[in-house]
Amino acid sequence: MAENAFPTGTLMAGKRGLIMGVANKNSIAWAIAQQLAAQGAELAFTYQGENLLRRVKPLAESVGSDTLLECDVTDDATMDSTFAALKDKWGTMDFLVHAIAFAGKDQLAGSFIDNTTRDGFKSALDISAYSFVDAGRRASQMMNDDGAMVTLTYLGSERVIPNYNVMGVAKAALEASTRYMAADLGPRGIRVNAISAGPIKTLAAAGIGSGRHMFRFNKAASAMQDNTDAKGVAGAALYLLSDLGASCTGETHHVDGGFHAIGMPQEDALRASLES
Ligand code: NAP
Repeated sequence: MAENAFPTGTLMAGKRGLIMGVANKNSIAWAIAQQLAAQGAELAFTYQGENLLRRVKPLAESVGSDTLLECDVTDDATMDSTFAALKDKWGTMDFLVHAIAFAGKDQLAGSFIDNTTRDGFKSALDISAYSFVDAGRRASQMMNDDGAMVTLTYLGSERVIPNYNVMGVAKAALEASTRYMAADLGPRGIRVNAISAGPIKTLAAAGIGSGRHMFRFNKAASAMQDNTDAKGVAGAALYLLSDLGASCTGETHHVDGGFHAIGMPQEDALRASLES
C-alpha cells in the first residue's frame, strides 16, 4: 500500500453523503472524504465561492465525485439550494460530515474577555455551531434511518487554550448541540457524534495566534508524544459514520494522541518543548 493510501474496503459501499468544509488538500474534511471514498462511499461536496471551487473540483473528481454545491452556511438561500440539489440527485442520503468553523482573526488572539465583541461572538457561534444544527436538520429530513453525522471540535471547548478564545465557546456549543441532536434523531436510528481532533496544520489552524507553540507543546505533552495525523481523524470518522459505530451517539471522541488525558506532561518532554 502506498504511504498516503487510506485503507480500502466496502464499509461505506452503497452509502451517499455530503462533505462540508474542504478548502484544500490539507483540510481535515479532505482526509475524511478520501477515507470514506476508499471504503466505497459516494460523495458530494460543498464549497464557498469560485476560488474554492477551483481547489475543491479536482479533489472531488479524484474521488469520483461531480457533485459540487456552492454553500455559505450563513446564507439560507445557499443552504436551501444545496439540500434541494441533493434531494433531486439522490432522493435520500446516509451521512453528513460537518467540518466548518470561523472566527475573525481579531477574536483569536490575546485576552478573551477584552477582545471578544458581540459581532465576533455571534458570527463564531453562527458559523461554527449553529451551522451543524441547521445542516443536520436538513440532512436528517432526507436521511435513511441508519444514517450518521459527524462534526469536528477541539479541546478548547473543555479547557482554556491560549488565543482559542471565542472559538472555544463555539465548540462547547457545538458539542452540546451534538448531544441534543443525538437525542432528537436517536429514535430514528440516526447517530450524531463529534470528533475532538488535536492540532493539525490547516488554513483554519493558521488563523489561531501562537500556532507554532501549540504544535510543539502538543507533540511534547500528548501521551503519544506526537502531533495528530489527519488520517487518524479520518479513521475515527469512518468508524462513526459506518455500521462499525452502531450504538455510538452523542459522543465527543478525542483523536489527539491522548493529549486530553494528560494532567501534567513528562518533565523531559516539557523542557524540550520549551527549549526548542
Ligand atoms: P480548513 O481546511 O480551513 O476548513 C475549514 C472550512 O470551513 C473551510 O472549508 C472553510 O471555507 C469553511 N467555512 C468557514 N466559514 C464558512 C461558511 N460561512 N460557510 C461555509 N463554509 C465555511 O480547516 P480544518 O482545520 O480542516 O477545519 C475543519 C474543522 O476541524 C473545523 O471545524 C475546525 O475547527 C476543526 N478542527 C480543526 C483542528 C486543527 O487543528 N486544524 C483541530 C480540531 C478541530 P473557507 O475557506 O471558504 O472559509
